[in-house]
Amino acid sequence: MLELQLFHRYTRALPTSGEMMQVPVEFQTSKGLQYILSKGWQWKQSDSERIQTETCPVCKKAGWGHFYMVCEPGKRDGLWQCMRCGKSGHLNALKEEMGDKIQYVGDFGTKGDSEQMPNIEQMHEELLANEDAMDYLVNTRGFSLEIIKQQKIGFGKRFFKKLGGEKLCISYPYLIDGNAVFVHWRTLPPTQKEFSSLKGWEAPLYNGHILNDESLKEVSFVEGEANVIAALDHGVKDIVGVPGANFKKAMWLEQLDKIEELKIYICYDKDQVGQKAAQTLASRIGINRCYKIILPDFEIPSDEGGTKKGKDLNEWFQHGGGSAEKWETLKAQAPKFDVDGVTNIDDGLDRFEEELNGKTGMMPKYMMPWPSLGDKLGLEEGDILDIIAYEKIGKTTFGLNLMEYFVDQYGEDGIIICLEMSNDRMIRKWVSHVSQVADKVTFDPVEAAALNEKFKEGVKVARAKHHNRPGNLYFCYPKGVKTLDDFFKLVTDCIRRYGVKWIMVDNLQLLAGRVPRGTHSRMEHLDRISKGLQGLNKDYGTQMIRILQPHRNGNDELCTMNDVDGSASLAKDCDAGISLNRSKKPEMSSQALATEGMVMSSDASFDRKLLVTVDITRYSAGGQCTLDYVGETSTVREYNHAQIKAEEAKIKSNILNEVKDVSQLTTSAGTEGASAQSEI
Ligand SMILES: [Zn+2]
Repeated sequence: MLELQLFHRYTRALPTSGEMMQVPVEFQTSKGLQYILSKGWQWKQSDSERIQTETCPVCKKAGWGHFYMVCEPGKRDGLWQCMRCGKSGHLNALKEEMGDKIQYVGDFGTKGDSEQMPNIEQMHEELLANEDAMDYLVNTRGFSLEIIKQQKIGFGKRFFKKLGGEKLCISYPYLIDGNAVFVHWRTLPPTQKEFSSLKGWEAPLYNGHILNDESLKEVSFVEGEANVIAALDHGVKDIVGVPGANFKKAMWLEQLDKIEELKIYICYDKDQVGQKAAQTLASRIGINRCYKIILPDFEIPSDEGGTKKGKDLNEWFQHGGGSAEKWETLKAQAPKFDVDGVTNIDDGLDRFEEELNGKTGMMPKYMMPWPSLGDKLGLEEGDILDIIAYEKIGKTTFGLNLMEYFVDQYGEDGIIICLEMSNDRMIRKWVSHVSQVADKVTFDPVEAAALNEKFKEGVKVARAKHHNRPGNLYFCYPKGVKTLDDFFKLVTDCIRRYGVKWIMVDNLQLLAGRVPRGTHSRMEHLDRISKGLQGLNKDYGTQMIRILQPHRNGNDELCTMNDVDGSASLAKDCDAGISLNRSKKPEMSSQALATEGMVMSSDASFDRKLLVTVDITRYSAGGQCTLDYVGETSTVREYNHAQIKAEEAKIKSNILNEVKDVSQLTTSAGTEGASAQSEI
């Protein structure tokens, strides 16, 4: 519950003028205030724990003294209320109101605690006093003293993990109305090029506050700060910098969407990597709104004293004769991006060659987590993998294992859209998987308390894993989605704004049942769902894992991709399809159960031996392998017969010992059928 009384304690008018305030020390790590700064809203401090904004962002009523937010770092940070419209909520609710967070998606914000904002002014003074750093900016980068001062570029030392120590570096603060909302650092040459960001703060666009102006007519997107600074220095104002080529989250897309008449240009590096990143950015912004600026060929001095090809905007202004007038000409000539992926042989060969150079062999880009499946199936960019299995076999678990592996191994973001399980339940399952805490339902108070403790440790392990890797895994439970179009919009929003590269939909039949099919038959309805997802996957160059249900219940027959419920064409829309099967265990006799005092969980009625069949694959012959399904920890792993037998024997002997202790049983009960999933 919100602590609403909090807002009524301070109702007096505040004396401060409309002048922008420096962020008070006690609010410096407030995520609530960070958000307000990032939006460029006028604000001032109200009291020791709150700020107010000039205009309520929700009802747009102007005038101080009605929209308040707690900015005290800690539990209530970001709690807000408007006295005019009466709306209130936590920070996430405000972000949802503003379109900066997608409803239904579990979004934990930035990773970890916020680092203190460093002293921008002091770093700037240090830069002006440092000859080497100034020499680099003025002579190598070609920046004027005026622009260096205007953008408050700074200098200092910072720890670079990859370089194993503190290095001298240039700091680029992101300023909105004089307030720093983010900082990016770059090592000072000759130190190897590395970057570092202010931890725990959302990375906005550099110079991105210009998007707050809804009358903006055009904007150019470039990569990084230096290109923007060079352009600003030459009188090009409507320009923003994307922080790093592999940026993921992009909540500023919401702002772009609002400015309908906006003409958007993208000018990325001239090399293949830059051009591919430009294409991806255009897809996320909306390919029909974007124009591609291609810089003319020019030469820049190389380190060896010769020359080499120039590739970015900063270099063009510095060495390629770039000017504001020529920039206007380039914009006028800018073509739209390719939509349908038509390619000519030259470009195609170039790309293939580049791809070959980037690989050591001809292995698929994405390998499977298990070697025994890895030689039967691999995935390439843009692939769709379908997974089919009967109830209780472990489709969701199998998909979760794949998603966790791809996010962890390849550093790309993914989202699991599960229609069956709430985000909280999926998180519990994920924690159990990554921390290997065996999650079992228990009604024994002692066991329940022990499990609680194990999970507390597990959460720490999971959190550390999440914080210490580049990839993000999101969960989404689209409980309020009413129509198929809403669902496609949700998936589109997740790709565009979170920048996810992996999407898992669990499952298609459940989705078909959830959204009305109108006059379409069930077959047509499923086909529309399948084709719609396939289209999104193609448009955005993502990878998709789709979970499918078979049309019949498993008796003794193996489930295959031919058993897809509803539409035979589903299988044609995927690049790879695998079926999962586990065999039912022989029924235990009631006497054996009574003797051992065991109750079997429903999950345990299937053998843990998981038969994985690659039914459909574009790149290989497919085949079968056996994996080990460990239901308790939501984990699929390599099947190791000896290890499994040893584990089962250990659990069995524990159980038997306990039973003996309790009831002094002397019978040596048969060992048939006991399993790791058995419970006392
Ligand atoms: Zn309001």
